[in-house]
Amino acid sequence: MTVRIIDVREVTKPIASPIRNAYIDFTKMTTSLVAVATDVVRDGRRIVGYGFNSNGRYGQGGLIRERFAPRILEADPGSLANEAGDNLDPDRVWAAMMQNEKPGGHGERSVAVGTIDMAVWDATAKISGKPLFRLLAERHGLEADPRVFVYAAGGYYYPGKDLAQLRAEMRGYLDRGYTVVKMKIGGAPIEEDRRRIEAVLAEIGEARLAVDANGRFDLETAIQYAKMLRDYPLFWYEEAGDPLDYALQAALAEFYPRPMATGENLFSHQDARNLLRYAGMRPDRDWLQFDCALSYGLCEYQRTLGVVKAAGWSPRRLIPHGGHQMSLAIAAGLGLGGNESYPDLFQPYGGFPDGVAVEDSHIAMPELPGIGFEGKSDLIAAMHKVAE
Ligand SMILES: [Mg+2]
Repeated sequence: MTVRIIDVREVTKPIASPIRNAYIDFTKMTTSLVAVATDVVRDGRRIVGYGFNSNGRYGQGGLIRERFAPRILEADPGSLANEAGDNLDPDRVWAAMMQNEKPGGHGERSVAVGTIDMAVWDATAKISGKPLFRLLAERHGLEADPRVFVYAAGGYYYPGKDLAQLRAEMRGYLDRGYTVVKMKIGGAPIEEDRRRIEAVLAEIGEARLAVDANGRFDLETAIQYAKMLRDYPLFWYEEAGDPLDYALQAALAEFYPRPMATGENLFSHQDARNLLRYAGMRPDRDWLQFDCALSYGLCEYQRTLGVVKAAGWSPRRLIPHGGHQMSLAIAAGLGLGGNESYPDLFQPYGGFPDGVAVEDSHIAMPELPGIGFEGKSDLIAAMHKVAE
């Protein structure tokens, strides 16, 4: 009997909060929750894979319900399974979703596909009875490393927030075991951002600070900020300019010798390749932040890792955007440099399974089958509602 996908469901949920970065506010932000139900039953319970679309891009219910879920459900089940027929083949499911899609112009279809792909990988790992990070390491002939670097992303702008509150927020991250924290810049005048940075640095002492402009700056402003930021020993200067303005990023290296980071708004391996070809990114110090959930999923992320390696970069230079457990699994299985996390935001979606503590800015992956959503009680409760 071939393993079958019997249903693909989507519900669009709010993940709104009053925060803003330099580019958008999150007052109307949503995410898609997806359940991929299989005909496999273990211990009296149907195996269902779950996914959601990270954060920062809106839910993709229209595309999922109208186009991508029907293609999976209409496909010959044998064409979605592995050779033995005893599990799904995520790459074959991915190919079924992408039939009759033209190349390029990735838009937000990559988010819809990435969300379903997360659920397919969750189901596949559960059917094999293994944590996804173990399954991935096995498939790639690698040694899994359950210990993953994580940093605390926050420092957003929100109404009435002053320097004391910003410092208290960052102190809270240190108290929870983080040694690297991140804050937003570019949503205030440069001198105010300088005061915010100095306030945080005074608060965090030996810990490290990254700053994120969310693609807000034109070249002139990006350079002004580079000249201000290089006065400080920052962990990285993130997404200075438009995600597709590779010339801006390349020019910036002349003014900013310390580490820079970008890539969370590039949604395909072709875009990642162009970044590495044309944006002057430096493999000895810079960081790449592609988020699989936004960019066609893990099937595509493996191709992205291929172009990263072909360009002479180590997978250690990748620390994905998004703060979700899928990227934690990829980091532990495929040797990435770590993962973002948002200790106070985007709940119940982001974060770690219950009981996983941050120590010295690292977590240890529990041995849960699949991606590990079953270990996070608030999240799995929301997921079960989609499936049942
Ligand atoms: Mg960012």
